[in-house]
Amino acid sequence: MIKEKKDRSDDEWKEKLSPEQFKVLRRKGTEMPFSGKYYKEDKDGVYYCAACGNRLFSSEAKYDSGTGWPSFWKPTKEEQVTNRSVESASLIRTEVICSRCGSHLGHVFNDGPRPTGKRYCINSIALTFEEKGEE
Ligand code: FE
Repeated sequence: MIKEKKDRSDDEWKEKLSPEQFKVLRRKGTEMPFSGKYYKEDKDGVYYCAACGNRLFSSEAKYDSGTGWPSFWKPTKEEQVTNRSVESASLIRTEVICSRCGSHLGHVFNDGPRPTGKRYCINSIALTFEEKGEE
C-alpha cells in the first residue's frame, strides 16, 4: 500500500487545497447536493483524488443516481479507496477515503446498480476530472 502523503499536517494541506476542498477532504464535510461541478458530467474520462492525484473512478462506472452528487458503482481498483464505518447523528454510514492520502471523499451505500449494488456517493470538490484523450 502506498503510504506517501498521509502524514501531511493541516497547515500543509491548507496550502495545497482551497478552503472548500479542505473542509470536505480533511474535515469530512459534504458539499450541497446539485452544487458540485461533476454530478452531471457525462464525458468519458477518469476522476482523480483532488488532494493527491490518486486515480479513483472511471466514467464507465459513473451513473446518475439523482442525488446531486457524482455517483459510481465501483472504484477503478478496490485498493484505491478504503471504506470505513462511521457513526454520525446516530446513523452508521460507510465513509470512502482515498487510500493514498487518507482524504475523505464521500460515502458508499448498498443501493447502487448492478453488478456491484454499490453507490459510491462522492463530493465533486474531492475530485479532479480528466477527459479521455487529454492524458
Ligand atoms: Fe488522495
